[in-house]
Amino acid sequence: MTDWPDFNISLVTVVVCPLLSLMTDQVNTLKALGVAVATINSNTTHDERQRVFEDMLCGHPSTRLLYVTPELCQTDNFRRRLLIVHKQGQLIRVAIDEAHCISEWGHDFRPAYKELGWLRKNLVNPTVPITALTATATPRVRSDMINILGLDLENLRMFNTPSDRPNIHYEVRYLADFAEDNSGAEDSQLQNLLRWLKAIQTRRESRLGSEVTLLPPISGIVYVGTRAMAEHLASRLSSSSDEMVTAVAYHAGVEATKRAHIQSTWKSSRPCQPANGEKTPTFSIIVATNAFGMGIDNPDVRFVVHWTPPRSFESFVQESGRAGRDGRAAASLVYYGIQERNFIETMIYRDTESHRANGPENREAKLQSFGKVIRYCESIRRCRHELIKEFFGDFELEEMGSQLPAREGVSVTSSSPCDFACDFCKEGRAGLAKRREKMASETQMALLYADFD
Ligand SMILES: [Zn+2]
Repeated sequence: MTDWPDFNISLVTVVVCPLLSLMTDQVNTLKALGVAVATINSNTTHDERQRVFEDMLCGHPSTRLLYVTPELCQTDNFRRRLLIVHKQGQLIRVAIDEAHCISEWGHDFRPAYKELGWLRKNLVNPTVPITALTATATPRVRSDMINILGLDLENLRMFNTPSDRPNIHYEVRYLADFAEDNSGAEDSQLQNLLRWLKAIQTRRESRLGSEVTLLPPISGIVYVGTRAMAEHLASRLSSSSDEMVTAVAYHAGVEATKRAHIQSTWKSSRPCQPANGEKTPTFSIIVATNAFGMGIDNPDVRFVVHWTPPRSFESFVQESGRAGRDGRAAASLVYYGIQERNFIETMIYRDTESHRANGPENREAKLQSFGKVIRYCESIRRCRHELIKEFFGDFELEEMGSQLPAREGVSVTSSSPCDFACDFCKEGRAGLAKRREKMASETQMALLYADFD
């Protein structure tokens, strides 16, 4: 006879999640799917908190998934209650999302994550399984995750997939140095982006003819540095594009219901449907801050543009990776200039100075990670897909092993996944050098940095 689990027994999974926006998005999606999900975070009212705890401690909780912050997991109050739930045999699993936050070498280090080692030490007899998940763990961060969480190497199973995304075309666009007079910089960059979009529109129209009007707009994301810039650029993109683009700002400052509306409109099969008689825009773009957007989950994003260079290599891979999740052709474009590079470096020094509690290693980690962004953008001698694999530690991860079943026909050790899908492989070194000269001449570049090989 098959030994089926008893589905009448209610069992709870606790999910540790670092971001309120991410938590809210996931909780709302699960609720809509009919999953018994609850959350306790800084926005939870006293009454709701009481209700959730009463349910958790009743011996047969109706809640199946409980989302909490790492900070809550640090409190004695929560720990005591969690131990009771465990003693009652109701805790089936703990899942730690964005687990790279545990490492000072991770790009989003959160001190409260370090205290999660308590879970492994105390949720025993019987041992509660712990799952740690991340999309951005270099080998060093992965070791930290195992050590700090106190995971048992004997019983540990590791699964990793390579970071290469052969369907994404990677390209860097160099910005001229406007140090003397900055007033024309934004216009010039905007025109550059609009020309790129126009070229895509023209190609699409010549391929599809009149059928093009039946198609929904092409979805894209433009990442910017600040909320104000998100608002400003969204408005400029919409107003300067002769109805080619509809753009909306999307950041943590936008009210939650409006944000949900923007997301659902953008995700629907005909996003930004115009009123009768109006022209359908070719592009539907979300202009988002890089601090926000983990909740963005749309498989058919065709391009991700970084208006300014990303502050860490891990965020770059994560953000550009939101393009082409459906496996179809997509593009990643990074605008890069010397002024912005220097500005970001200064900001990293300033920010890490004001967060001294994170320790000197965190500053070093942040600078090293931005160093990879610089090398990725300034290199004119290597395929960008290869650079991503190397910087992300794919080769080392392959050596560390994975229990993930091999995908049929997919080699994880291929030296380069690029088939003319980056600007280096398409334009060659000379072509890139010529474009990079606009930013700074070859001689200046040689003085700024040793050449990257
Ligand atoms: Zn390439």
